[in-house]
Amino acid sequence: MAAAALPGEPRPVIQLGDPRLRQVAVPVQDFDDRLQALIDDLIWTAEQTHGVGIAAPQVGESLRVLIVASRPNPRYPDAPLMAPTAMVNPRIVAHDEVMLDGWEGCLSVPDQRGQVPRYRTVEVDYCDRHGTWKRQVLTDFVARIFQHEHDHLEGHVFLDRVPVGRTVLSEAEYWTYVAPASSP
Ligand SMILES: [Zn+2]
Repeated sequence: MAAAALPGEPRPVIQLGDPRLRQVAVPVQDFDDRLQALIDDLIWTAEQTHGVGIAAPQVGESLRVLIVASRPNPRYPDAPLMAPTAMVNPRIVAHDEVMLDGWEGCLSVPDQRGQVPRYRTVEVDYCDRHGTWKRQVLTDFVARIFQHEHDHLEGHVFLDRVPVGRTVLSEAEYWTYVAPASSP
């Protein structure tokens, strides 16, 4: 049982154009050491790349695993702080009818931000990293992260969700024109 506490290695994040981002990911069957290592790697990779979430397909693993890891960082200064949470075989079981627009970026879609409508509140269930089912209500930015990462498990990226005629900006434009106006 040695090596259980290793911090995990950052993994290369695959980019739009890689067909593995467009696959529907496969449910996890075994909560084994390999899964534990993947989860540790994902948490570490999100932290190192200033992501607020990441999904296994983004490191080339076609498995239904995502991490929600909201924290303030240079890419998302206003993100709420929470402990990184691994969600295995996650599902949206209910949502409210309210959709809110918000700016999203993605580690797999470099240099782009888009305004994406998402449900404000989602009720989700998932297995934790040891296989125990959990149910949770997520709201606002954390709900947005979940929906973004869950999309990766279905082979979607946020650009697919930007309504026609809505804005997509480069990171430079975003930080010049949008971020200063939206800061509290
Ligand atoms: Zn993404």
